[in-house]
Amino acid sequence: MIVNLPYKIMVEKRLDENVREFLLSLKLGKKCAIICDKNVMELCDDTINTIKRHFSADIISPSLEKTYLENLSKKISGYDFCIGLGGGRSIDAAKYSSFLAKIPWIAFPTILSHDGVVSSRASIESNGAKISINAAEPIAIIAGLEKIRNAPYRWIAAGAGDLISKISAVEDWRLAAKAGKEPYHTVMAELSLLSARAVMSNADDIRKKNYHGLEVLLWALISSGFAMNIYGSSRPGSGSEHNFSHALEKLGSSALHGEQVALGTIATTYLQGQDWKAIIKMLKKLKLPVTAKGMGETEERVVKALATASSIRDRYTVLNKKNLTEKSARNVLESVGII
Ligand SMILES: [Zn+2]
Repeated sequence: MIVNLPYKIMVEKRLDENVREFLLSLKLGKKCAIICDKNVMELCDDTINTIKRHFSADIISPSLEKTYLENLSKKISGYDFCIGLGGGRSIDAAKYSSFLAKIPWIAFPTILSHDGVVSSRASIESNGAKISINAAEPIAIIAGLEKIRNAPYRWIAAGAGDLISKISAVEDWRLAAKAGKEPYHTVMAELSLLSARAVMSNADDIRKKNYHGLEVLLWALISSGFAMNIYGSSRPGSGSEHNFSHALEKLGSSALHGEQVALGTIATTYLQGQDWKAIIKMLKKLKLPVTAKGMGETEERVVKALATASSIRDRYTVLNKKNLTEKSARNVLESVGII
């Protein structure tokens, strides 16, 4: 088993000259490409200026289009390292282009809406469709809680939703092992569950967006990412509820990933025989949507997504066991109040 993990992580309330010290301690060289969009550039101009004073840094705007990232990788291959600064787009663009360019990259999230910060897989677009593609883990992570706190609460709630979904994902993994489909890694499963539990027992602080809540959310996202990176696949953190989210996206849903998987978790924990009512209670506490309407979705779309979720990818989950039709998917969604 070979495991790649970020070797340094910096979490601070406020970022100032400490970013310079941190970057120097990584001993990566002087030339750096910062991938970030215009909004983040304005939001983080102080940090960018600090970096620019000590490194030869160029700002590059992100796109998730595969061809763009392939071209970008040629451009940045002469750089010593790359920083993905911002939300998912910048992180994924930095992750994939640096992987192709064979240079180290640093994750510098300004929002915490999902656990892609640590993972080695990048979500990009090819011919207009979203794809998940192999890339590399960040060599380091930098997070400034003050900046993260400025993000709208909806994104923070989505990050919490992505973590609560591990309750469904780990149960699916257990079911797959029971059905003889694949081995179960107890410690990685527990690590994944730990991130969900940490979020649930600190939901009030997360809801208040206080520093303790944000710190818990950040470390829980990192721990969940570690579980997947150590195991070498997304299995510890992605089961039927993620299938449901991928199916929804395919049907054109524009809800946030964390909102989709959280809503899916209500239905999948119901199918798994877990305490789905407790999940609803927790999602409500975190102000996450618990109905299709609340998430801006039509009944038809969520029914179709749940009925087709098992065919999204080759991963055994409770959905393989239940073999839902559109009619039975509708029944499930009605039973848990999603529609
Ligand atoms: Zn996720």
